[in-house]
Amino acid sequence: MIPFDFDYYQPSSIQIAVEWFRFLQKLGKNPMYYAGGTEIITWARTNSIHPGAVIDLKSIPECNVMEMQNDKLIIGACVTLSALSAANLFPLLSETAQKVADQTARNKITLGGNICGKIYYREAVLPLLLANSKVIIAGIRGLKETSIHQVFTQQLSLGHGDFLVQTLTDRRYLSLPFVHYKKRQIGNVGYPLVTLAALKVNNRIHTAYSGVCPFPFRSVEIDQALNESSIPLAARIEQAIGKLPAPLLNNVEGSAPYRKFVLKQTMADAVHTLERG
Ligand SMILES: Cc1cc2nc3c(=O)[nH]c(=O)nc-3n(C[C@H](O)[C@H](O)[C@H](O)COP(=O)(O)OP(=O)(O)OC[C@H]3O[C@@H](n4cnc5c(N)ncnc54)[C@H](O)[C@@H]3O)c2cc1C
Repeated sequence: MIPFDFDYYQPSSIQIAVEWFRFLQKLGKNPMYYAGGTEIITWARTNSIHPGAVIDLKSIPECNVMEMQNDKLIIGACVTLSALSAANLFPLLSETAQKVADQTARNKITLGGNICGKIYYREAVLPLLLANSKVIIAGIRGLKETSIHQVFTQQLSLGHGDFLVQTLTDRRYLSLPFVHYKKRQIGNVGYPLVTLAALKVNNRIHTAYSGVCPFPFRSVEIDQALNESSIPLAARIEQAIGKLPAPLLNNVEGSAPYRKFVLKQTMADAVHTLERG
């Protein structure tokens, strides 16, 4: 049960959503954008958040598209992880989505909610970082298209009242060779010890990670180390581990030393597979 009342709004356009957010903010309602609701409901039940109003983005047409337009794959922020996997237009993204949570939760969880969520795994962003995708962000001044690298460092940086509308990915990235490994402490559902997603682009391996540090990331330095094929793989991996952007996570899913062990194995698997392929 959610132990407080809140107002529910379901705008049918981007402009109305942004204007309602601003209006509700002025009324002191502390509004939140709402997509799948899985994180919002969980946190509201435990009294960790107290929105006076939620603005459900799912009736906005632009947030529900999933199609090719001019050699770009456009995915609306409210497309669910189940729909992403089923359509399989970007196989690395499909596989990443398919490994998040369970089927019932994936029927609710949206691409935008996963990327914008406060829980720091945000695995769906990994393929978008690897494919140099662009994002469309709505705000009071209209729509802004920008590279994901400009706005995603640890988390998506949004102005107050802004929301993610769509992601855009060039066709040339969609069918590149890839690997995706998700290692959990136990079972097939739940947050990762280590998730590694990788694409092979122009004979180089590009990697991105979740569960390793307290945020998902892609690192040019790590990729440089892993692609240094003149030295043995074990040495490359040692160098790559030395380039992590933050200390290894140490939490209920696993200790930092155990994560390091799993990460090394996973990097080795990824490089072996993609160097062969
Ligand atoms: C059982 C279970 C297991 C899970 N396991 C994993 C896992 O292993 N790995 C993983 O990465 N995730 C996992 N998740 C999902 C994750 O933790 C979040 O619950 C989920 O991604 C939130 O998505 P949502 O669409 O329900 O977002 P919501 O709950 O609707 O919103 C989450 C946050 O994002 C904001 N938001 C939503 N959409 C937008 C938008 N378009 N623009 C701006 N802000 C927006 C909201 O305001 C809110 O702050 C799991 C979830 C469950 C329920």
